[in-house]
Amino acid sequence: MPALRAGFQDLLDALEGVSYALDPQGMFLAVGRPGWSQFATDNGQPALAEDRIIGRHLFDYVSGPEVQDIYRRMHEMVLSRTRPQITFQFRCDAPDAERRMRMSVSLISVEGEPAAILYQSQVLAEISRPPMDLFDPVAREAGLASMRNMPLINMCSYCHDVALTGDGPAGARQWITPEAYYRAGGSSQVRISHGICQECYETVGSPLKRVA
Ligand SMILES: [Zn+2]
Repeated sequence: MPALRAGFQDLLDALEGVSYALDPQGMFLAVGRPGWSQFATDNGQPALAEDRIIGRHLFDYVSGPEVQDIYRRMHEMVLSRTRPQITFQFRCDAPDAERRMRMSVSLISVEGEPAAILYQSQVLAEISRPPMDLFDPVAREAGLASMRNMPLINMCSYCHDVALTGDGPAGARQWITPEAYYRAGGSSQVRISHGICQECYETVGSPLKRVA
């Protein structure tokens, strides 16, 4: 694999938003430091500290087989230059704010050879709202020991819609926004498994399907 040149870290540090580079196998090579540390602080997640993430695999942080499968196909398409850049919108809430984001996933070549995959996400809109524990990993982890018997809900990794897992097969589930979930009396005392809703599967997955 060709090495990234000196200066790459400086370039990554200068990018707006949260940026990181993965090697072709999906391991973290480098992160844009200012944006990344802001992201780790905002989310109250010291485990995401920069020095602890380099060398780890993206899938240590992306859960759910369907979601991992989409990332895997996205990497294949970027690395093979079938689509050297893929962009999509997603939602990435903080406990007390709704956040709409845009992600671009791009190929970095060095001397014509694929060297890295660049992820860059930028905030499109952020709206404060009352805290939702569904998006507070610290509050949720604190209750983890007693969570084993709690009901399991499915959360879409892209739009944060939720569905009860008892609702039947993934495609037939009733997905509702987290706001509607709370309005309907939904509890924060649940276990969350991450997946992808039908609508996001069609929008996020469609650039992958079109050429497949
Ligand atoms: Zn979704």
